[in-house]
Amino acid sequence: MIEMQDVWKTYADGTHAIRGMNLKVDRNEFLYVVGPSGAGKSTFMKMIYREEKPTKGQIFVNGFNLGKLKQRKIPFVRRNIGVIFQDFRLLPKLTVFENIAFAMEVIESPKKLIKKRTMEVLELVKLSSKAESLPTQLSGGEQQRVAIARAIVNNPAVIIADEPTGNLDPETSWGIMKLLEEINYRGTTIIMATHNKEIVNTIRKRVLAIEKGQIARDEAKGEYGYED
Ligand code: ADP
Ligand code: ADP
Repeated sequence: MIEMQDVWKTYADGTHAIRGMNLKVDRNEFLYVVGPSGAGKSTFMKMIYREEKPTKGQIFVNGFNLGKLKQRKIPFVRRNIGVIFQDFRLLPKLTVFENIAFAMEVIESPKKLIKKRTMEVLELVKLSSKAESLPTQLSGGEQQRVAIARAIVNNPAVIIADEPTGNLDPETSWGIMKLLEEINYRGTTIIMATHNKEIVNTIRKRVLAIEKGQIARDEAKGEYGYED
């Protein structure tokens, strides 16, 4: 599903963010990415959704070699990857329905299908009653559920979640985790960077610890392993 072969990322200013990473993630895995601030977690995730290119090495996602990808093929890869952020990143002037539908419009899905599928994912995240609301009228947890609905609406093979519970209170965070687990059970690979020790140590999954741009630990049903 995802494979990295000796991947390096050096930014323009000379920062070596990722240094020689080798990794395989199978279809249907749930992977936590942990590690200190500045360790390279965001860079690691950005390379998977092709926001950043590796300086050296190969990355394969769902059969595509990301380093060799032609510009015009990027949308085809992005369609296979849903991304969720700590700060939700919804479009403020669009309704909940429109925010989700937009992700299908950009890949030119048929109008009828857009309506049907958008309603379906709204149901899944339990926000059908908020379809016509604006993001500002929702709580943080509800906004993150909209972001999750948007991320899954095109049936991606992978969800990349960068600190999805970072702005939420503990109770709301558990709700978001339940939802991510359900999406994982339905067949989507999940890669989630997090500083949430409680969650990692309670909902046990594979843990990848990144330190100074390298894999420091890779454990099935691992622990958070840091004090913060
Ligand atoms: P984390 O997500 O673990 O906090 P990042 O991937 O954001 O780590 O950062 C890894 C290293 O790369 C840090 O030293 C950070 O300052 C640096 N970095 C991240 N993005 C850039 C960039 N666009 N240009 C230069 N350095 C960057
Ligand atoms: P987050 O922790 O929310 O993932 P980051 O702090 O890693 O976000 O990065 C926020 C933005 O700033 C990103 O676009 C990243 O590429 C950029 N960035 C991070 N560190 C640096 C840096 N040292 N120099 C330049 N840009 C950076």
